Amino acid sequence: MGSVIRGWIVDQLFFGGFASYRDICRKAVWVACKVALVAYGLNLGAHFLLYAFDLLPYGLGSALIIATVLTPPITFILAVLAYVPVGFAIHDLGVSRAEFERLSRTDMLSGLANRRAFLDQFDRCDQDKAMLVLDLDQFKLINDTYGHLAGDAVIAKVGEALAKVFPDTCTCARIGGEEFAVFCRDMPFGEFAALGEIARRRIAGMRIEADDAGFSVTVSGGLARALPEEKFGEVFSRADKALYAAKTGGRDQIVLCYETGNIGDAKPVLRSRIA
Ligand code: GH3
Ligand code: MG
Ligand code: MG
Repeated sequence: MGSVIRGWIVDQLFFGGFASYRDICRKAVWVACKVALVAYGLNLGAHFLLYAFDLLPYGLGSALIIATVLTPPITFILAVLAYVPVGFAIHDLGVSRAEFERLSRTDMLSGLANRRAFLDQFDRCDQDKAMLVLDLDQFKLINDTYGHLAGDAVIAKVGEALAKVFPDTCTCARIGGEEFAVFCRDMPFGEFAALGEIARRRIAGMRIEADDAGFSVTVSGGLARALPEEKFGEVFSRADKALYAAKTGGRDQIVLCYETGNIGDAKPVLRSRIA
């Protein structure tokens, strides 16, 4: 019994009947009505039992009147008073839990998913998928030239750009210091590669304002398609190999790594470099 109640409360933490204070008040009235009805029934039953054994110290008529007038309202009020604070506490715990869960999966600087959330979602997805890994070019130089705060602003703006370019079916994440990753479920590979290219161009076209100067940044990317059953580690190592090729090939471009491990064209769909 104890474990059933405990299980029920834990289920409610996922918001079951405690989604809002209003729902809780509505449910409190409903539960209190049921409690009052049960209490009234038990009270009547007890009186009839005592009466049957001739143990009722007062008349049945007055006993029934008192039971009817007092039991339902008193038990109703007590049940509401007990249910509402407990319900509110469960609601508040549920909100904190959901917020904690959200925070533990979000990268605070970019607003994107963090590495843990990305890995988790990637490995759980059993649809056709591909991964794009992006790394800011010469970012150390950006930090050294414009300061760490300007570097942080770049990371935030790149996060914004990725979230705008890729649709909701994609997961965009910051998986390391100046490294981002995107994967898409069930999207034609050509379309995903094209979006990657659009993101690269958009990032290259952004103007970042530092104290007394504006500057721009570029990213290099590695693209790899996942074979069925492949996990994050295998796909990431191919995408990373392609990223390395993009860096050594001059940066500001996206390179594709085939499933065989061979490095393909640096311009997956659109022309990669802005002439
Ligand atoms: P490459 O083009 O080869 O990637 O060169 P890079 O300078 O980007 O690469 P490197 O790995 O040498 O430097 C990465 C830099 O990213 C170093 C580190 O200070 C910076 N960085 C990592 N995380 C953050 C962050 O959260 N904020 C800021 N501002 N800088 C960061
Ligand atoms: Mg890096
Ligand atoms: Mg870098």
